[in-house]
Amino acid sequence: MSMVQQSNLLLAGSGLSGLTLALECARRPYFQDKKIILIDRDDKLRNDRTWCFWAKDDEPLPLVEHKIWKKCQFYGKDVAKILDIAPYRYHMIRGLDFYAWAKTELAKHPNIQRVTANILDIDAENGIIKTDSGDYQGEWIFNSAKFTAAGKTFAVDGAKWTNPEHQASSESLNSTHSFLLQHFKGWIIETPSPAFSPETVTFMDYRLEQHDETRFVYVLPFSKTRALVEFTVFSPALCPPETYEYELRRYLSEVLHIKDFHIEEEEFGVIPMTDLTLSPKGEGRVINIGTAGGFVKASSGYAFLRTQRKIRLFVDAWEKTGTPDPSTLQSSRMFRAFDSIMLRVLRENLVSGKAFFSLLFKKLPAPLVFRFLDEDASWGDILRVLYAPPSWPFFKTALRQIPFLLKL
Ligand SMILES: Cc1cc2nc3c(=O)[nH]c(=O)nc-3n(C[C@H](O)[C@H](O)[C@H](O)COP(=O)(O)OP(=O)(O)OC[C@H]3O[C@@H](n4cnc5c(N)ncnc54)[C@H](O)[C@@H]3O)c2cc1C
Repeated sequence: MSMVQQSNLLLAGSGLSGLTLALECARRPYFQDKKIILIDRDDKLRNDRTWCFWAKDDEPLPLVEHKIWKKCQFYGKDVAKILDIAPYRYHMIRGLDFYAWAKTELAKHPNIQRVTANILDIDAENGIIKTDSGDYQGEWIFNSAKFTAAGKTFAVDGAKWTNPEHQASSESLNSTHSFLLQHFKGWIIETPSPAFSPETVTFMDYRLEQHDETRFVYVLPFSKTRALVEFTVFSPALCPPETYEYELRRYLSEVLHIKDFHIEEEEFGVIPMTDLTLSPKGEGRVINIGTAGGFVKASSGYAFLRTQRKIRLFVDAWEKTGTPDPSTLQSSRMFRAFDSIMLRVLRENLVSGKAFFSLLFKKLPAPLVFRFLDEDASWGDILRVLYAPPSWPFFKTALRQIPFLLKL
């Protein structure tokens, strides 16, 4: 019989949330004598994603190279403006930079081991992860490698899931649950002559045909001649593959008037936007983190900063009490209820994403919207956000969602 390797913390998946948890434990004395094993099938040697988020200057962030912008341009329905985002700034971190830095930091700790292996199964009761190169047992398993939703198990592989097309089914359209996908394709392009304004991010540009969905482009300029341009859709199913390229080319030529460019890098991604309960509390010894633990903000798809914040609070509490408490990883019921209502309004296109975000950024200061999306909002902020879009579709949807909201 093969040996089962023992550990205290066993991490199934070491992408953003797995690495963040391991780093957070690594810097605290309480975990110095705990054996931590991270298992991932991917060595994380590719730049498989680019993380963007807004943050204030006093936010503790990973010590990785950031690109930072102070200005954000918004183009929506009857509105085109530079958002005054102070005291926030818009940040970008390359996935590869984060992975490389995290691996170097973790290698300094002899109690932490990284294993490259394909996870085949998780035995939650006994705390065992079965892989194609042996079995591992832990007191606690932190799972960010797969999640179950709508009766199907998805591998959290970032760019692709086991079967994302499944979401197009009409059953999901009739249910009180929403399961939208945020899917996007982006290119880092280089132009022969100046085409971008390097100090201003285009946060959302809705100057696209919406096709009864939410479609926008964002642009992260690195210089006057180099930028990441990303076409993004919120909808129940993926587009045909050629649509992403068609829309990117059309946007570049018709909106930005860029005819000549060279594609340096390509990114494609799918993020779940759902109010299905992806609970941090798993079965047996499993605690779900990252996308699998519901860390993705259901109504926006943002997860980077939330992951940093949630894991920091969780490990703080664990260090104090001596026990990991998954409930500290969950957002408040009120914000999950707002997300659920918003998703259903979007799913049924009662108010389009374009109209909704245009009204928000037209009527409200951007920092207030950011606080709301970060779940840092005061009651005054919340009331202002609730009154900004047309109230009736949201109120009607809230009433229809009551049976579901009561179960949250
Ligand atoms: C392309 C892309 C761009 C994004 N951009 C942003 C952004 O700009 N801002 C933002 O806030 N959020 C963004 N997100 C959302 C979110 O921040 C990321 O998806 C984030 O990586 C989620 O962290 P995670 O730990 O849940 O998953 P991941 O980082 O994907 O980690 C899961 C890990 O599990 C491993 N795994 C899966 N199955 C197995 C298996 N069977 N065996 C072994 N290992 C396995 C994978 O290899 C992976 O490393 C983006 C997501 C994607 C996909």
